[in-house]
This record gives sequence, structure tokens and C-alpha cells, in this order.
Amino acid sequence: MNYYKADIVLQEVPNEISLCFSICGCTLRCQGCHSPFLWKTENGKPLREADYKLYLSKYHGLISCVLFMGGEWEHDNLLNFLKIARKRNLKTCLYTGLDDVSEALKSELTWLKTGAWNPELGGLNNISSNQKFIEVSTKKNLNHLFIPRHHDQINKQPNQ
Ligand code: SF4
Repeated sequence: MNYYKADIVLQEVPNEISLCFSICGCTLRCQGCHSPFLWKTENGKPLREADYKLYLSKYHGLISCVLFMGGEWEHDNLLNFLKIARKRNLKTCLYTGLDDVSEALKSELTWLKTGAWNPELGGLNNISSNQKFIEVSTKKNLNHLFIPRHHDQINKQPNQ
């Protein structure tokens, strides 16, 4: 499994500090894809188990979640990485362009984002989006956490 980058991200999983691995080899080719550098399997560099464990050790105490942007196409590798994260008491999340993933993967996931990118429907912050952010244990759709709140307009009285 090759990864393009590993970043600390704050918005992709609400209320969590996530270490995010962007995995190469996505075959979906969504129109308007924001990350075409993830299409080629050979891009990036190998994410070996030892490298992965080093990352988790480096960020121990600083992160609360491990997030994979793709990787479900290397099912057993991803499953192993998720299990390692869970054993270290980290929450887990997968962003996939598919509409579902295996029960085995879901059994190791705290959250799952499903759905291909469709520029006409928008992402999780759009109420018309085809994408779903799901709490796996309850199957609850948590998209509302991404929708900007509408603040009531406060009509201030002019100063006297
Ligand atoms: S699933 Fe994500 S990375 Fe893959 S083609 Fe679609 S937008 Fe790009």
C-alpha cells in the first residue's frame, strides 16, 4: 500500500485530531476529483507496518483518530492498520468513494464517509450531497456536523 502523504487534520472528522493517510490507487476517477495524484497505485511511497507504527508512536497523545483517505482496495492491509490503531485506543475513520465497504472493515471503524465526489451535489457541507458521514456503531448519519450553521440576524438598536 502506497501513501501520498500523512497529515494532521482537524476538520475531516468533527471534534477529533486525526492523523490522515492519503492512499494511492483510487480507481473511481470521479469527475472533478480534488486528488488525482491518488489515482496511480505507484505514486507516493510504501506504507509498511513498521512505518505506520512509527507514525502512531510519534503522534501518541497528540491525536485521537486515524483517518484513511481510501485504501479499501487493499482490504487486508487496511484492515490490519485499523486493528493496530484500535489496539492503541485510537478512533478510526475511512473516507471512501464507494457506497459501502466490507463488514470486516466496518467492524474496525468508528466512522465511515461514503459516496463518490459529484461536483453538482457537493461534499458533506452541502445538504444535497450524495456523500454520507456515518457513525458505524449506530449507523447514524452525522452530515449535520459539517453543515454551516445559520446564525440568526440580530437587529441591533442604533446607539442613542
Ligand atoms: S474517490 Fe476521491 S480520490 Fe478517488 S477519484 Fe473520487 S474524489 Fe478522487
